[in-house]
Amino acid sequence: MSNEQYSFFHNVERSFDKAAEFTKWDKGLLEQIKACNSVYRMRFPVKMDDGRIEVIEAYRVQHSQHKSPCKGGIRFSEAVDQDEVMALASLMTYKCAIVNVPFGGAKGGIKINPRNYSTYELEKITRRYTSELVKKNFIGPGIDVPAPDYGTGEREMAWIVDTYASLKPGEIDAAGCVTGKPVSQGGVRGRKEATGLGVFYGVREVCNMADRMKKLGLTPGVEGKRVVVQGLGNVGYHSAKFFREHGSIVIAIAEYEGAIFNLNGLNEEAVFQHRKSTGSILNFPGATNIVKSTDALELECDILIPAALENVINGNNADRIKAKIIGEAANGPLTPEADAILNKKGTLIVPDMYLNAGGVTVSYFEWLKNLSHVRYGRLEKRFTENMNSHILTQMESLTGKTVSDAERKFIMHGAEEVDLVHSGLEETMITATQEIIEIWDKNPEIPDMRTAAYVCAINKVAISYNELGIFP
Ligand code: GLU
Repeated sequence: MSNEQYSFFHNVERSFDKAAEFTKWDKGLLEQIKACNSVYRMRFPVKMDDGRIEVIEAYRVQHSQHKSPCKGGIRFSEAVDQDEVMALASLMTYKCAIVNVPFGGAKGGIKINPRNYSTYELEKITRRYTSELVKKNFIGPGIDVPAPDYGTGEREMAWIVDTYASLKPGEIDAAGCVTGKPVSQGGVRGRKEATGLGVFYGVREVCNMADRMKKLGLTPGVEGKRVVVQGLGNVGYHSAKFFREHGSIVIAIAEYEGAIFNLNGLNEEAVFQHRKSTGSILNFPGATNIVKSTDALELECDILIPAALENVINGNNADRIKAKIIGEAANGPLTPEADAILNKKGTLIVPDMYLNAGGVTVSYFEWLKNLSHVRYGRLEKRFTENMNSHILTQMESLTGKTVSDAERKFIMHGAEEVDLVHSGLEETMITATQEIIEIWDKNPEIPDMRTAAYVCAINKVAISYNELGIFP
């Protein structure tokens, strides 16, 4: 797709401008918030396994330094270009502001299709990219902290932290230079499922709002709701898992090669295993094949979760989307044209910029863990268990009754790292959803939830700029 017709960054700017109308901030301050502060475009050579030298094109964009460090993932994709990385970096600023994660926004990208490279070649590319960032002071626990994104995961993060630490010997907080690391390398338990779980918590909170559901002709709660998920990567897989575990029916899952449909519900793990062993999502036992993958987006359903890439619902297909709620798990899955068409239809669009903030929220927990050099729960878990046991024994002796073994185990349980991470994430997503809805409720002129989310973000970033005294 050429940038003449479609600029992702321009789309973000358009949404920003639409929301800025509902704020009272100085024009210059709004301009500053919108602008990308630093854009680092690099090219470096990497020797491939066959001896050939390939010139790699890569980026790191720091959208805002109103809080330090900057934060955002690194994606490996052939579609990477400066426009895309700038758009994604800006979304990170707004996302962090909404969920009260004290970071500025950033994003990185390497223009490669990781499937075309061996593991060793990918390692060399990642390590070289990291050393380029170190050279220009574009990475560090107090400067800019990358994380996984489309096409990257724990493995790449482990290479990054290792490269960084070896170039910065003695830096005590080196582990905090990147998040999404394997637990053995300083990662936090619960990071992997964080984005999908955050998507679930956010949509569940909206579904629990009886008045909003009534407007959509739906009953409150996620139970029994028909869900369509696009993308069976980390985010799509975990979103599907949590919806299913909480009583929703995942009626369709879409991937590149096609989609599958079953009104009785699909189990994401079984579908994942089927795809792994056959190489395709199609022909899953009991399901109907949908040969054209994007047709799945147009199915009759309650909740649609686009969890793949940007621009999948646009001016061409928006009028055929039948979902009542769209939960934007991916970044930028809807274009402003699609937004306009669907808002007119009354579809409730739960926007990307906060709905997929679960990843960065748990990244924040990981960074805090790295700076504090201690695992969550290490200090209090045993204390809580001893105290709970004591309270329980007292209650039993006072009442003369005893609880079952299973109940005893449950009550005594002291929080482990993963319990604390999930609970911190749940709290964050519920609060953010309520804050955005409150802004929307208080100002009926605001046309949609995305605009309300932008207003929320703009206000928070503007307040923090003002507090910095940049605009005396
Ligand atoms: N790549 C994820 C995002 O787009 C996570 C970023 C992070 O953890 O810093 O939100």
